[in-house]
Amino acid sequence: MKFTDLGLRPELLRAVEAQGYTEPTPIQRQAIPAVLTGGDLLASAQTGTGKTAGFTLPLLQRLADGPRPKARQVRALVLTPTRELAAQVGDSVKTYGRHLKLRSHVIFGGVGQQPQVDALRAGLDILVATPGRLLDLQQQKHVDLSQVEVLVLDEADRMLDMGFIHDIKKVLRLLPKRRQNLLFSATFSNEIRRLADGLLDAPAMIDV
Ligand code: AMP
Repeated sequence: MKFTDLGLRPELLRAVEAQGYTEPTPIQRQAIPAVLTGGDLLASAQTGTGKTAGFTLPLLQRLADGPRPKARQVRALVLTPTRELAAQVGDSVKTYGRHLKLRSHVIFGGVGQQPQVDALRAGLDILVATPGRLLDLQQQKHVDLSQVEVLVLDEADRMLDMGFIHDIKKVLRLLPKRRQNLLFSATFSNEIRRLADGLLDAPAMIDV
């Protein structure tokens, strides 16, 4: 199977080609069409499997045609456990989205908040964030999560291991009911299953 068989638009295929990828990885083959349907997804995948492109490419495609976000609004929210992963996902969004006119930004704790506040003010198509700083900024009314169309939990097991379950639940309460949810986790503990049960509606399942 080739990238051109996955239903991705030319702008995304050009960006993939520029990366030198010759064929989609197993998770990409399964996740890209699943995410493009607009349904929920539960994916078991380790890092190094190409999972980031697996959700970033179809996410970019789903957002490419929609209305621009209004001030402080966010259309897609990607939560990650660490600032390193947030930065890495943010880089992938920029790389794969280079030929699309979408705004994205990464926010995490431990750095000054003003540049993050400025980026949020304009409205974002994709916000990649760690939970703590996101909630700080939300409490200060710098971000409006009421229009989120897609939620991605990346490395959900690590988020739970790091004690983020309450923060995640707080974030979930700020999101609209109707949205697409994607959950990626390397492992499936009972706690992850409970989270997935409460979050996902008839998800497609991928295990690679
Ligand atoms: P990830 O599992 O998302 O952290 O990706 C692991 C690495 O694989 C990253 O350095 C990607 O640039 C690379 N990668 C992602 N998709 C492909 C692909 N289809 N072919 C070759 N390398 C890829």
